[in-house]
Amino acid sequence: MQDLQQQLNLLNEAQYAPTVHKDGPLMVIAGAGSGKTRVLTYRIAYLMSQGVDAFNILALTFTNKAAREMKNRISQIVGGEAKNLWMGTFHSIFAKILRFEADKLGYPSNFTIYDSQDSERLLRAIIREMGLDKDIYKYKQLRSRISSFKNSLITVRAYFNNPDLVEADAMAKRPRMGDIYQEYCDRCFKAGAMDFDDLLLKTNELLNRFPEVLAKYQDRFRYILVDEYQDTNHSQYLIVRALSDKFQNICVVGDDAQSIYAFRGANINNILNFQRDYDDVAVYRLEQNYRSTKNIVEAANSVIEHNKTKLDKVVWTANEDGNKIKVHRSITDGEEGRFVASSIFENKMQQQLMNGDFAVLYRTNAQSRAIEDALRKRDIPYRIYGGLSFYQRKEIKDVLAYLRLVVNPKDEESLKRVINYPARGIGQSTVDKLVVAAKHYGRSIFEVMANIDRIDLKINSGTKTKLSNFVTMIQSFQIMNEGANAFELTEHVTKKTGLVQELKKDGTPEGVARIENIEELLNGIKDFVEGQKEVADATGALTEFLEDVALATDLDNDKGDDDRVALMTIHLAKGLEFPYVYIVGMEEDLFPSAMSMNTRSELEEERRLFYVALTRAEKQAYLTYTQSRYRWGKLIDAEPSRFIEEIDDQYLDHITPVENYRFKPMIDTDIFGEVDKSKLRLKKPVPSAPPKIGKPTPDQLRKLRKLKPTTEANGNEPSANLFNNELVAGNKVEHTRFGIGEVLKIDGVGNDKKAEIRFEAGGIKKLLLRFAKLKVI
Ligand code: ATP
Ligand code: MG
Repeated sequence: MQDLQQQLNLLNEAQYAPTVHKDGPLMVIAGAGSGKTRVLTYRIAYLMSQGVDAFNILALTFTNKAAREMKNRISQIVGGEAKNLWMGTFHSIFAKILRFEADKLGYPSNFTIYDSQDSERLLRAIIREMGLDKDIYKYKQLRSRISSFKNSLITVRAYFNNPDLVEADAMAKRPRMGDIYQEYCDRCFKAGAMDFDDLLLKTNELLNRFPEVLAKYQDRFRYILVDEYQDTNHSQYLIVRALSDKFQNICVVGDDAQSIYAFRGANINNILNFQRDYDDVAVYRLEQNYRSTKNIVEAANSVIEHNKTKLDKVVWTANEDGNKIKVHRSITDGEEGRFVASSIFENKMQQQLMNGDFAVLYRTNAQSRAIEDALRKRDIPYRIYGGLSFYQRKEIKDVLAYLRLVVNPKDEESLKRVINYPARGIGQSTVDKLVVAAKHYGRSIFEVMANIDRIDLKINSGTKTKLSNFVTMIQSFQIMNEGANAFELTEHVTKKTGLVQELKKDGTPEGVARIENIEELLNGIKDFVEGQKEVADATGALTEFLEDVALATDLDNDKGDDDRVALMTIHLAKGLEFPYVYIVGMEEDLFPSAMSMNTRSELEEERRLFYVALTRAEKQAYLTYTQSRYRWGKLIDAEPSRFIEEIDDQYLDHITPVENYRFKPMIDTDIFGEVDKSKLRLKKPVPSAPPKIGKPTPDQLRKLRKLKPTTEANGNEPSANLFNNELVAGNKVEHTRFGIGEVLKIDGVGNDKKAEIRFEAGGIKKLLLRFAKLKVI
């Protein structure tokens, strides 16, 4: 065990104050890497040292992994008592509470949690049953609309009472939206299932409708702490508000500059209004970043400066300057992947690093493929976070569906998934009849099946027998579940249902991999059963396991025991840190995303996302972009992201090899041989001859430096840049975003040539001519 005081002494003054602040509301607003999460962690240890019972502390984090790490850290200081802390994501904590209280809301305590796939399958079924056009009623859109209703606490009734909402859907040619919402909620309820958003919505309902329940949890959670507060949505905000209302011991930490979930309903006003919501709020600011080098911290500051909506904040670091941020351009996305892989390889060798010291971050999941291919070719082990997680694989979902049925036979999505898998001769038309009957009698499909002999459904006797056999099999599992543990039961289920035999029959390498996955699942359950013995508040083993699984993000499955490069979207990287970070796909329309450039606030959210990405790096950041990229099955031209340009150039190091500048412009001339500048065009790259990758050789560098800054030398930029090379001090120029300005000075040659420009609106900026979109006026 470590000595608390000794640990507290390691904090700086600004961190120490909120850590030992005792009662009342407090908020820590501070930039990335300044120790917010550390303050939260030590604060919990401190509170416990002051006699606060672990049972009275609730900590809400962004991932369950973060919660686990925090708990481990705390137990190093306070010992075993840390086990009794309630820590986790909003969803996992409130799922637990809902289990205790489910009956009050008419749910079984073993309710199923529908994941997003389940929700989408259900919506698809509803659209089909209602006979609606699936091209107009797109299930993904419906799901996100329902999700946003729920996160704003708009119930079905509230929806129908709100003419604006109803009209908006009518205008969007979805007049049946309300009916779909109603049917979706009814079906979930009948199936004894809650979706992710319900976990928050129903918690709010519980706390609102049952004052005695609210009082119970208010008394229990005397100290509430929330990390990443900037990304809480309205529903989460209301829960925290209600629970902390009595004691007002609420501590939130966050950074408005890292708010990146507005698209999912996160509300930055939760931070801005905190002082309004509580009396006598103590506000603390941290300014010193401990994570990153000076270059990274200052570069990140220079980017976020471009956002208009922000709280004024200082972030500085006493760390060393470090290297500049390396910017690399490639010709294709395949080459970008190869650059990342070889750079990781070289850095690992030269700096004696582990794979786990590297992360590759991207804007969209689809970008991982090119990176993966390149890493595989180099034999560099990696792990993808946020793709299809282990628990979403088909064979795993099949096993889980059986388990979910054992616990809750009303679970409609699970039943439909496995009623005829492995095949047992129960066809879709039979299932359709069961669905109709279930609706008619207001019962679950399983109940209809269990009473199949008493209902006239025009199902032949052979099929009836098959249905009864299925019911009997599930019931036999239920009986076993009363005595056996989750591991024994699952092993039995995989054999008895024929799942494993089915895969064995398959015989292909994929089939073998699937069996291995099922074995891995069994290992996981065994671990869980062992671990369960230590957990406070544990209830029925199988239910708990299924809940863990339903709420697991793949970050949570990272046992951290093998050494791999981490690949993930920037959204997932929030709160994490890595010595080396590669941010790939730094291109306009990709990052910032084309879909998020309609309004200033969307663009600012993209910029915050970039800020999050950059501030994950401890020692070295790379920004890579490519000239052309396959998107939606087409090769498209790409332009470097404006975010590169927004970084003050003094923090950047352009490491693009000379080969990537080899394309000559195709210049149109008129009949007199004069260049028609309005027609300057680029010759498209010819990706058939892949360029050599890696750093330019000394020879190439020399050549590069000698290149005269003419259109010939590096004219592979958009036409406006051709003019840039002729710029001289005194020129008046127009920039697409900064507006009109005057060139004060030109520095550097070739690729490094830059202009210092005084813009009428935005002050003096140094722009690299290679990137700057300038027009001489
Ligand atoms: P983010 O905004 O990205 O979530 P954060 O503000 O939560 O960042 P932490 O993750 O708590 O920051 O801290 C960043 C890094 O700095 C961590 O590695 C942490 O251990 C380290 N750190 C924080 N405070 C100190 C300190 N006083 N002395 C040494 N290291 C520190
Ligand atoms: Mg943090």
